[in-house]
Amino acid sequence: MPMQNTKPNVLIVDDEKSNLKILSEILKEEANVLIAKNGVQAVAKAKQLRPTLILLDVVMPEMDGFAVITALKNDERTHSIPVIFITGLRDVDNEEKGFSLGACDYIQKPFHASIVKARVKLHLQLARQCQLLEKLANIDPLTSLANRRKFDQVLELEWLSAKRDKSTLSILMIDIDFFKPYNDNYGHPAGDDIITHVAQTLREQFGRPRDFVGRYGGEEFVVILPNTPGDSVHEKMQSCCAAVAEMALKHEYSSVDSVITISAGGISCQASLDITAQQAVEAADANLYLAKGSGRNQARWQELVKRDESM
Ligand code: GH3
Ligand code: MG
Ligand code: MG
Repeated sequence: MPMQNTKPNVLIVDDEKSNLKILSEILKEEANVLIAKNGVQAVAKAKQLRPTLILLDVVMPEMDGFAVITALKNDERTHSIPVIFITGLRDVDNEEKGFSLGACDYIQKPFHASIVKARVKLHLQLARQCQLLEKLANIDPLTSLANRRKFDQVLELEWLSAKRDKSTLSILMIDIDFFKPYNDNYGHPAGDDIITHVAQTLREQFGRPRDFVGRYGGEEFVVILPNTPGDSVHEKMQSCCAAVAEMALKHEYSSVDSVITISAGGISCQASLDITAQQAVEAADANLYLAKGSGRNQARWQELVKRDESM
């Protein structure tokens, strides 16, 4: 089997070909080297390829390194990529400016190969640790779904983006039926297995890149669907209920079926409505409550529309 290439991507930005060549040579063992010959190209490549680290020259024609780092820090896709300045500028003011704009290090030319290598290695290690922490902070360890913390972040971003684009956002709350008697009778570890299976089945139902499926807590899940037509959301919720029942996971203590089932509550709305994201989640939860009250193993969905003020 071919060895997997696990080297991190490092983007080197310099307007001088000879510098690009020397730096590429120095770093080729540590990294997959990507290069950009000017600031505009650097920003475009960083957005598209999201390198682990960027080595950035300061003095370049048109867009200089300070303008590049400013653009990177202002874009959500690139703001957390560490940037090391490599520059011939020797005064403290420029070095200070580099740090104040968000650089993580500053290397002066002429550089020494071993120092560049050591610093790049150090920052790559820090970047790896940051990514790992970020992952651990956002993932539910039982199901590997996104956790509540991540849900809060994604909801805020999607709400803003739906508002800006005047698009529809749908939120679903999903809860396993009669889960307490399941735990009480089959034990907590068996209950954990059920949560994991349901999580997996729900994940499989939502395939679009921006669809978000998370564990809200306990035996409750939450789904965010940007830009999805309302009637297809309702159908999707019904498919979720059917898919979970079809797993045929025995539950002799459920009053609705002899297998594990779920109930789902959902809403679709224009985020430009005069409500908060939190109120939209509460509305989805109220529909879940209705689904539970109407017998469970079913989906309740509603389109939130502007109240007619003349009424
Ligand atoms: P309903 O049909 O109305 O949803 O009833 P329910 O029994 O599912 O609802 P309730 O909220 O009373 O029970 C949820 C149970 O989920 C209680 C708790 O023991 C269990 N639970 C919560 N988190 C976990 C977990 O991480 N693992 C396991 N095994 N059980 C959990
Ligand atoms: Mg429940
Ligand atoms: Mg519950």
